[in-house]
Amino acid sequence: MKVLVLGAGIVGVAAAWYLADAGHEVEVIDREAGAALGTSWANAGQMPGAGVLPWVSPAVPATILRHFGKVDAPYLIHLKPDPAIWLWAIGFLRNCTRARVTEITANLRRLAEFSLAETQALRAAENIIYDLSTRGILHTFAKAEGFDKAARAAAQEPEAARPRVLDRQAALALEPALAARPDMIAGALHYDRDESGDCNKFATGLAAAATRRGVRFNWGETVTDIIVENGRATGARTNAGEQRADVVVMCLGSASAPLTRRAGLRIPVYPVKGYAATIPVGPGAPDIAIMDRDIKAGILRIGDRLRIAGTAELAGYNTHLDTRRARALLAAMMKRFPEGGDASQAELWTGLRPMTPNCLPLLGETPLPGLMLNTGHGSLGWTLACGSGRVIAEIVSGRPAPVDMRGLQLRRLR
Ligand SMILES: Cc1cc2nc3c(=O)[nH]c(=O)nc-3n(C[C@H](O)[C@H](O)[C@H](O)COP(=O)(O)OP(=O)(O)OC[C@H]3O[C@@H](n4cnc5c(N)ncnc54)[C@H](O)[C@@H]3O)c2cc1C
Repeated sequence: MKVLVLGAGIVGVAAAWYLADAGHEVEVIDREAGAALGTSWANAGQMPGAGVLPWVSPAVPATILRHFGKVDAPYLIHLKPDPAIWLWAIGFLRNCTRARVTEITANLRRLAEFSLAETQALRAAENIIYDLSTRGILHTFAKAEGFDKAARAAAQEPEAARPRVLDRQAALALEPALAARPDMIAGALHYDRDESGDCNKFATGLAAAATRRGVRFNWGETVTDIIVENGRATGARTNAGEQRADVVVMCLGSASAPLTRRAGLRIPVYPVKGYAATIPVGPGAPDIAIMDRDIKAGILRIGDRLRIAGTAELAGYNTHLDTRRARALLAAMMKRFPEGGDASQAELWTGLRPMTPNCLPLLGETPLPGLMLNTGHGSLGWTLACGSGRVIAEIVSGRPAPVDMRGLQLRRLR
């Protein structure tokens, strides 16, 4: 079958590889000059399996109120007269009940663990080098109260998903760089089978591997419309002309919703802005990937660089880099790791996460025949890209999804 993949972020590139691997003729369109130059450029690099956490949580509403309007707020809502923001935010808050969070976490974990295994198999098959760390992800807590609560919650998880619970001493033994500020570490949870690495490097390597398998990438082409004929998606219109295909796979990240809407389909994907700061590494940089649960940001050593990435801002589609927000993140990293690197050489970045209100991606066939969705991966696009790509390739090939899709099927799309 001829398959047209729209978007060459990590999600589109992975889908293209799996589709080519399944024997399809694959063409990819992206407006940029290469792979993963959008949101997949400078994320926190964390690839959790068992340790995957959706953003929805019963604690979120109180956190939003506590930090309302602060420049370093982990969640920030710009009060705009845009109904889409409010609809999305209401849907998100509705998913913050304990029962919904338990269900969403279970569905997400199944896909994340499947995706991690797919990533491992794929990197071995294609020999992709991307500053991989297999030391796990360390979730750190500055206050005893937060640590005790998280440790109690972790004890309720299925046995295979339980982290190692480390007191301060054990956390410092695992990651000596934390000793620079022992007052900022009450304890940690270690998900020792989770991984991390540079998403952009992986995507670039995977795009090269996909090209070797016959995938054609059309760089510098902007998709303006999905072509719909006789009630079926038959291709895409771009600034360079028209491309026809048997199946169109939507992987445009945050740009997915406006384009599918033009084709008559509303999908609940909204951009949630995040920031990153990357610095040349110093002698006091941590070696293990860290998820700081107090500031809800990831800290990652990527070769000779150290990065912090996080925060969530509902600000529409604008990609303006608010340097105050990015610098607040940088300051938080330097506070924890004063010798972590050279903050004067920080590269600041912002990206839009394609988020759904329940933090689960939209994967599979749509009410519009010929159009498939592979979007809405939110804060976990790097984590879920390979698993999602494999799911899409199997469905396009007429085979059942290779992972239990309970709770992940597309529902209620109009
Ligand atoms: C601060 C931050 C930290 C994060 N940390 C993590 C993490 O630790 N782990 C994790 O798993 N995920 C993380 N994420 C999320 C992850 O980065 C995203 O989920 C992922 O990059 C989304 O990939 P994508 O391919 O769907 O979208 P994108 O990477 O945005 O790709 C979409 C592509 O579509 C192209 N495009 C858009 N519109 C058009 C058009 N009209 N025509 C042609 N091309 C177009 C763009 O050029 C782009 O290449 C983080 C995100 C942020 C912002």
